[in-house]
Amino acid sequence: MIDLDTIDFKKMGFLAGLEVHHQIDTKRKLFCNCVPKLSDGEPDYLFERYFRPVLGEMGDFDAGMLIEFEKGYRVIYHAYEDSVCIYEQDEQPPFWPDNEAIYKGYELAHWLNFSAMVDEIVVSRKQYLDGSITTGFQRTMIIARDGWIPVNNKKIRISNLTVEEDAARKIKTENYGRTVYYNLDRLGIPLVEVITDHRDCDDPEDLRRTAEYIGLALRLSKIGKRGIGVVRQDVNLSITGGDRVELKGVQDLDMFDQMCRREVARQDMLIKIAGLLKERSLTKDELEHTYIDLTENFDVTKVPKNFIIMGIRLPKFGGIFKLEIQPGKDFGQDIIEKTELISGIPRQFLFQSDEMDANSFRRKTINDSQNNFFFEQMTTDIDKKIRKILNLKKDEAYFIALGPQKWVIHAMKKIIERCKMALDGVPQETRRLTLDGNSEFLRVIHGKDRLYPDTDTPPIDMDMVKIQQLKENVGIRPWEIYEELNKKYGFDYYQVVKLIRHELVDNITKLINEHRVDPQRGYDFYEKTLVALRREGLDPSVITFEQIIEILKGAHEGFYDFNQIPNITRVLLKQPTKKFKQVLTDLKIKAITDAELLRYYNEALNEVKAKFETEKLEKNELTNKITGNIMRRIKGSLSGKKVFDFVLMKMGGK
Ligand SMILES: [Zn+2]
Repeated sequence: MIDLDTIDFKKMGFLAGLEVHHQIDTKRKLFCNCVPKLSDGEPDYLFERYFRPVLGEMGDFDAGMLIEFEKGYRVIYHAYEDSVCIYEQDEQPPFWPDNEAIYKGYELAHWLNFSAMVDEIVVSRKQYLDGSITTGFQRTMIIARDGWIPVNNKKIRISNLTVEEDAARKIKTENYGRTVYYNLDRLGIPLVEVITDHRDCDDPEDLRRTAEYIGLALRLSKIGKRGIGVVRQDVNLSITGGDRVELKGVQDLDMFDQMCRREVARQDMLIKIAGLLKERSLTKDELEHTYIDLTENFDVTKVPKNFIIMGIRLPKFGGIFKLEIQPGKDFGQDIIEKTELISGIPRQFLFQSDEMDANSFRRKTINDSQNNFFFEQMTTDIDKKIRKILNLKKDEAYFIALGPQKWVIHAMKKIIERCKMALDGVPQETRRLTLDGNSEFLRVIHGKDRLYPDTDTPPIDMDMVKIQQLKENVGIRPWEIYEELNKKYGFDYYQVVKLIRHELVDNITKLINEHRVDPQRGYDFYEKTLVALRREGLDPSVITFEQIIEILKGAHEGFYDFNQIPNITRVLLKQPTKKFKQVLTDLKIKAITDAELLRYYNEALNEVKAKFETEKLEKNELTNKITGNIMRRIKGSLSGKKVFDFVLMKMGGK
């Protein structure tokens, strides 16, 4: 069992950087005049493309791009008249880039303390062969370098800020993932990409806060677009002895902690596996590209037409594939996921010898065990036959695959290659998160060869005076708000983040400073009372700030108990124009004089005396009982504190 909770990030040599991609709020797309909006429903037209890599600036193919090409995607695009023109179809060169997006990029650079602003923008092309961009490359421009933000009393360096176009949205895949559908509406929406230095975050919490502060700066500055899907984070992380792995497209900051722990565990285990294989003195030459047809050993009536089963021998790998590398997932599965994605053979048609064990992880996972050809067809008899044919001893391993011959050969090749990599530990990969926080192979990490200059747009001379003036737009930054609210009022980090997100900072400071409301009471009103009432189906926006002051002040001055606040607010949300006094009357909350309170006290005292042997009660216990009794009688018309103080005074006076 992998223990995620005890990971010592410092000891592991944890390094992690971020790429925050956030859409910019603009009137048009970055390289054409289309409206930056999403379209749904039946598309107005469709078209399709195939992709191939082009040579990089230095005359080499990018290794990652070649693997993408191997996947052999057929891509079908959905287009809408109101959000797509011939630029997105790659039928015409780019228009002049959108000034608004570029200047907003520079303004954000000021928010994030960038010191080097680019004075001549050069548009570059970044290759993408997954079909998400019709041209096969994304247009991108670096506009600033060397920024930083303070996080947990550290300086987190930010290396680059770029403005670039967003990619198309994937809708669905068919034909075992070989046919991919994209909606073109999102393609070309301006994005800002903020890239942090991977040396400065010591643990997942640093990383989370860095991402959060950048996101909040985009919100406070109103540079960022708002809504669902406007922000995506990529996290690059490695540990000592591991290598850079990119976790792609993380939307939820709450996932950061689990995701980092699970990736650290994976890299740690891959390093251990490399050690084990070396102990067994395995060399890469022993892993041969010899693929053997094994179809005849199975019940051929169960094998689909034109499908074959092939196997490869993996000496010295016995027991390696069943090692757990992420919670609930073994090394064999990690290889299977990668093979599935590149070759197209579904994971249910891939099998490794450690899975003869009925307790293997995949056998226990519903998605992977259902319709799994080999889990249904494998027997110990067939296992024996395969071992004999592949010339394997009992403690050695094999992999088998079912599918069309061409695909199966492709799969075998990929598995051998991956097993060779096991000797080196952690391969550089881009991975996508699964719902449990584990991750799956997505592609080989992109190298620098995929970046080259765009010849369609000349370099753009920037107005540096105007860029410096943008500094005046910078307001109080999120980390400064946190410092202040934390020091002055004791709000913790997560409370401050909520207050900023919900745009409540001004209101809450006003309540505290001008109306003497207790900070936590004010916070609870917005983040608990109003949230609970919204869940009841009421609309919190109908209540005015003046009404909120009235509600909280009444409780603070002791006219009613704090637990009356939800009741009063509920009535006001239902009937916002109702007079405050009338609300109190309706709820039978009335002003109580000291004389009346004394009468309640005497009644309560008698009742408590009748019920309990009061002489045996501790003084504070008795005080509590009497206070409770009075509170029931007056139904919250006074605050608990006021009644308690009164009772205490009476008892002390006795
Ligand atoms: Zn367009």
